[in-house]
Amino acid sequence: MPKVIPRPEGRPESGDGRHLEGRLDPVEPPAGDCALCPRLVEFRGELRTKHPHWHNAPVPSFGGQDARLLIVGLGPGLMGANRTGRPFTGDYAGDLLYATLLEFGFASGAYVAGRDTEAWLPDTLTLNDARVTNAVRCLPPQNKPLPAEIATCRRFLAAEISGMKNLKIIVALGRVAHEAVVATLGLRQRNYPFTHGAIHELPGGLALADSYHCSRYNTNTGVLTPKMFKDVFRKVRARL
Ligand code: SF4
Repeated sequence: MPKVIPRPEGRPESGDGRHLEGRLDPVEPPAGDCALCPRLVEFRGELRTKHPHWHNAPVPSFGGQDARLLIVGLGPGLMGANRTGRPFTGDYAGDLLYATLLEFGFASGAYVAGRDTEAWLPDTLTLNDARVTNAVRCLPPQNKPLPAEIATCRRFLAAEISGMKNLKIIVALGRVAHEAVVATLGLRQRNYPFTHGAIHELPGGLALADSYHCSRYNTNTGVLTPKMFKDVFRKVRARL
C-alpha cells in the first residue's frame, strides 16, 4: 500500500489552499538572461564562452501546462539540461526519469540524450499529462544552489504551479525540490517532512510525492534503485 501522509489538522497554514485557487494564469518563465542570481549569471557566462553551442541559460519547463502531474527537480545538470535546454535531458538522471515516464505512460516517443554532441538535436519524446521543471532554473556550480538562489527562483516555480489548472500531484525529486515546493505553497516544512516514497496530502486537494533524486550519484551509491524510483511512479499512476 502506498504510504500516505495526511494533511495535518489544526491551525490553518499560510498556504491554506487559497494559493491553489484560480490556477488559470499563463506560466511566466524566466527570461533567457534572467539576472536575479549573480553567482549563477557569472557561471553561465563562463560556460557560454567555453561552450557556445550549449543552452547555458534558464531552462524552460517541458510538457503541457494542462498536465495533471508536475515533476520538480533540483536544477539543470552541467551536461544535461544546461547543455540541451530541456529538463533532465542529456545525462544519467534523464535516462532513468524518462525511461520511467515511458514505462508508466507519462511519455511517448524516443528519448535521446545526445551525450556526444555539442549541440543537442531534439528527439521525438513527448510528455503525456506530465510536465517537468526544476526548483532552480539555472545551472548551479557543483549542483549546489545557495538557499538564496532557491528562494529567488521560487517565483517561477510558483508561476508553474499556479498556471497548471489541472494539477493533481507533484513529484519532488530530492529534498531540495521537496522543500522548494512546500515553501512555494506557503506550507510549514515540519508538517511535510521529506520522505522517499511518501505521498503528502496538501491543502486544496493537491498531493506531493517524494522520491530521492534520480542522479547517477544516488543510483551508484544505492540510495535509489530503479525499482524504488518506479515504485514512486506506480503510486502516482494509480492516483491519476
Ligand atoms: S536561478 Fe532562476 S531566478 Fe536565478 S537567475 Fe536563474 S532563472 Fe533567474
